[in-house]
Amino acid sequence: MDTNYDKLLDRAFAKLPTLSAENVDFKIPLADSMVQGAKTLIKNFGQIADVARRDKAEMARYMAKELAAPTSVEEQRLIISSKVNSDVINAKVKKYFETYVICKECHKPDTHIESTSRGFLTIVCEACGARYTIKHY
Ligand SMILES: [Zn+2]
Repeated sequence: MDTNYDKLLDRAFAKLPTLSAENVDFKIPLADSMVQGAKTLIKNFGQIADVARRDKAEMARYMAKELAAPTSVEEQRLIISSKVNSDVINAKVKKYFETYVICKECHKPDTHIESTSRGFLTIVCEACGARYTIKHY
């Protein structure tokens, strides 16, 4: 390991505001999925919901709507009653995070859903205080 390079890197990072450094660290999780017969399992669904800080049942409803197939949660796994390619699943997970989790103002994932009213959700960001309403899925 090149310590000089590390020190340089440390210094470079130290100069950046904390916000940017944290933004770089956040990665939308990848779904670990597999097709089994006529169904598809997302093995790490519970973990994805934890990262999103959303209820598994809530995310399962979103996936069902997006994939046009019934879903059910079984402990940490999501079972989709259809064969779905992992690229498609990951695109939906990404879309979920971009729309419902990552703050549209500061781009941090520290948000929660505060209230739901007919057809809408209010997203509140704990990092920057932004609140906005978006269409429910
Ligand atoms: Zn924010």
